Amino acid sequence: MRIAVFALQGAFVEHEHMLQQLGADTFQVRQAADWNQHKDGIILPGGESTVQSKLLQELGLFEPLRQAISEGLPVFGTCAGLILLSPSHLGTMDIEVRRNAYGRQLGSFHTNASVSHVGTDIPMTFIRAPYIEKVTSPDCEVLSEVDGHIVAARQGNQLVTAFHPELDNDLRIHEFFLSIARK
Ligand code: GLN
Repeated sequence: MRIAVFALQGAFVEHEHMLQQLGADTFQVRQAADWNQHKDGIILPGGESTVQSKLLQELGLFEPLRQAISEGLPVFGTCAGLILLSPSHLGTMDIEVRRNAYGRQLGSFHTNASVSHVGTDIPMTFIRAPYIEKVTSPDCEVLSEVDGHIVAARQGNQLVTAFHPELDNDLRIHEFFLSIARK
């Protein structure tokens, strides 16, 4: 199992540590040349979605990435990565996203909640996070809600969380992603 972790900008090393603890190999995608290696899945980390989207375009990675995901390559997007999969960017996931949804005061917070197919009491760290306002296709399954807002969803091989599971010591979400990538 080999997972490509986008390392253009933002928090990617923590994702690699989680995946490595679960026995997966990882490599970083920093430029177009890195992309052509064999991979069983992709991580789109948190950071700044506008900057990431622009970098993907400049590096010529936007279209190859979009195509690979459309063809079913498993992808896990956290926070900015979730925004990248929404219609304003790659558009592979049928979700309506609200960016920086928690405002300035509540920009960052921590809670625990259940995630369907994953478990209960999952630690959730939110950092200037988006949430999903709604899913716009029956193919997209809501996996978790916090305070009435969707914070995790899955559509086929695409998994997204508004929070950062890589920043807590709980491997269950990454394990769930690897189970999707193993199929
Ligand atoms: N606020 C960022 C954005 O809109 C996302 C923050 C994050 O990834 N932690 O892209």
